[in-house]
Amino acid sequence: MESVLESVFVPCRNAKFGCTKKVCYGKESTHEKECTFYQCSCPTLDCNYTGSYNDIYSHFVDDHRHEPKSVTFFCGGSVDVQMNIASDTILVLQESKKRLLFVLQCFNEPLGLYVTVKCIAPSTLELEKLAYCLYYSMDGQTLTYKSPEVKRVLEVSSKTPQDNFMFVPDSLLHDEFLEMKISIGLKGIGARIPIAFMKKKPRTKGRRAREWDMSMLRKEA
Ligand SMILES: [Zn+2]
Ligand SMILES: [Zn+2]
Repeated sequence: MESVLESVFVPCRNAKFGCTKKVCYGKESTHEKECTFYQCSCPTLDCNYTGSYNDIYSHFVDDHRHEPKSVTFFCGGSVDVQMNIASDTILVLQESKKRLLFVLQCFNEPLGLYVTVKCIAPSTLELEKLAYCLYYSMDGQTLTYKSPEVKRVLEVSSKTPQDNFMFVPDSLLHDEFLEMKISIGLKGIGARIPIAFMKKKPRTKGRRAREWDMSMLRKEA
């Protein structure tokens, strides 16, 4: 009986979205690790596009690349981001080498701000394990958050995260502009907390964060 079942092939569950692979019945999970036809939603808030994981990056580049709520970066490096937390909840980070989209999300909660990063990709897909670090300085204090593996999602959720986030207490938020540094890289390698950053005198209230020593950070990347 078993040998009969093993030879039964069924279409991939994403056949209706263009996947032409036939999957051995009962072994669908093997193909799930490589199927790129899972449907992802564009992370841009006012865009209704949904398409295969294959196409989501191109869609974003073609339609939203020039919008102010996106930032380009390379995995292994770091980038300064600024968000108006009074009006914005999402910033899209575009990684052009790996063709990945990440979403930086802020959640205003009663005691402070939750900041998290997710990757728009199917969780089943076999991809490199990535992690992120966030750095935030205010009033002589520096908060750093080093994440476990970046969560992958097919669409952006407005639900407050239960884990995998940095918490910025209200006492360290003074205006609506949140300036942070973020790095995303291979888990365990690319997203280390740069020691140079930790030693650097943190910014104080009202000053821009441009004096962060980028040359030291690059060495870490
Ligand atoms: Zn498939
Ligand atoms: Zn879109």
